[in-house]
Amino acid sequence: METLYLIKPGELELKAGNLREFESRLRRDIEKRMEGRARVDIRPGRFFLRVPEGLEDQAERVLSMIPGIVGYARALTCGKTMPEIGERALRIAREGRDAGHSTFKVEARRADKGFPLDSYGLARELGGLILENLPGLTVDVKRPEFTVFVEIRERAYIHGPIRKGQKGLPVGSAGKGLLLLSGGIDSPVAGYLMAKRGLSLEAVYFNAYPYTSREAWEKVRDLAAVVARYSGPIVLHTVSFTEIQRAIKRGAPEECSTLFLRAAMVQASHDLAGQIGANSLVTGESLGQVASQTAENIRFSQARTDLPIFRPLIGVDKEDTMKMARDIGTYEISILPYEDCCVLFSPEHPILRSRPDREGPMYESLNLEPYISEALRTREILEVPYST
Ligand code: ATP
Ligand code: MG
Repeated sequence: METLYLIKPGELELKAGNLREFESRLRRDIEKRMEGRARVDIRPGRFFLRVPEGLEDQAERVLSMIPGIVGYARALTCGKTMPEIGERALRIAREGRDAGHSTFKVEARRADKGFPLDSYGLARELGGLILENLPGLTVDVKRPEFTVFVEIRERAYIHGPIRKGQKGLPVGSAGKGLLLLSGGIDSPVAGYLMAKRGLSLEAVYFNAYPYTSREAWEKVRDLAAVVARYSGPIVLHTVSFTEIQRAIKRGAPEECSTLFLRAAMVQASHDLAGQIGANSLVTGESLGQVASQTAENIRFSQARTDLPIFRPLIGVDKEDTMKMARDIGTYEISILPYEDCCVLFSPEHPILRSRPDREGPMYESLNLEPYISEALRTREILEVPYST
């Protein structure tokens, strides 16, 4: 026996122009996450996923985490006759009652206008049938504890509660972004949010081995693995910034060291994005959170790229970011102790309002390009797989 899921795709309706591409991208992504063991059928406004018995848990994890889905429900299907539909509606209602609910309503949709009963008539008829057969249930159309949904389309589909999906757009429909992933709380959340806007992700982590440890790297890898539950597989590039940090320490005033490190990260990310075909950078920056995240300093560090830098957390309070991190499952990993690659220098009084005409020439005189290209050339590359 197969289990059927009815899926409500996300903002696809808005995309009339490339609807087909969006749909087939979402379909391929669902099938890939099901390891080819389940099939998706695309119907107007709905997808149907057929899952072999025993894979329901996997299917529900996939459907609850994949970007591009508003909601999904386990559904029953049958021919378009009242006895068949009634039998399924009763089964769904019984499940609701067994789950401890006592009020319900029937919500019917008739996409096939050839069906003899209209939506209202259908809902009334099925509501009556349920009341007759399942004592203890009463109708409450305003605030029912559960709803029996019926859709008459090419066949009849009957289902109970709709579970929430992640919404957003299918991964990859907006191209590929390069996520600057640190071991902190913010950047994994930023990656998750942009994956939901349709970016597939690769990630770059700048370490300062031997000043930062292998454990710090493992933490970043584990964070990438959690983000990958939503975004799909992530290629993680680990780039050694030890020489670059030494060069900054040697040649720059102490108060500029963090600022210049950020600028060098953006510069390296820009070059890496070019090599891997990413159309944008993604960071976890939030305005004013730390000295390097003032408007002036963000301007300074972004001057080394003309790619768009997506900062979905720029206006988000730390507390709200922490809540999202808990919800998606990265928080517990992010708060593990680790050394940031700033360990080589944490200036006591970092510059807050840098100026391109003042600090710009200083940064340029460090001549970091050769170090950056060498660091990129010798980077470590790991494919962090998708898993539910
Ligand atoms: P996070 O919690 O994401 O580390 P943060 O509040 O600690 O952010 P910063 O350390 O100033 O802020 O970093 C700002 C952004 O720069 C990070 O969100 C991340 O995108 C990027 N970044 C910082 N350090 C690194 C690193 N070592 N490797 C890759 N990206 C980094
Ligand atoms: Mg950080």
